[in-house]
Amino acid sequence: MSNFKPEHLNQKLVARNNISYEAQQQLCELYDKLEALLLSSKGELLTRADYDVISDKVTELEFELQRLWGFTQDKEFHKYWLSVGSCSCSKMDNMERLGYGRIINLGCPVHGTPQDS
Ligand SMILES: [Zn+2]
Repeated sequence: MSNFKPEHLNQKLVARNNISYEAQQQLCELYDKLEALLLSSKGELLTRADYDVISDKVTELEFELQRLWGFTQDKEFHKYWLSVGSCSCSKMDNMERLGYGRIINLGCPVHGTPQDS
């Protein structure tokens, strides 16, 4: 049961990168998985270790998305890490600097420096 349909994909990109229908269906499955994963990261009782596990899975999915879209598989261009849990890293700053390293908010519960407690 895939919620995400091929027609939801960026059609300009589908055409420009000549994405096969099979790849489009795989992309839809990945977007469904990504959504479920990000949703699971919004739970209240998650620990930093849980966030790390979810973040690793998001990274794996994003590499797959890049491959299917025909892009270079480059972590520098990932953006869904900003949507994990209650991430408080600046989306705007990170999107502006995409490809030039991540700007981490040290107080971010997902990516910042873990507190000893
Ligand atoms: Zn963050």
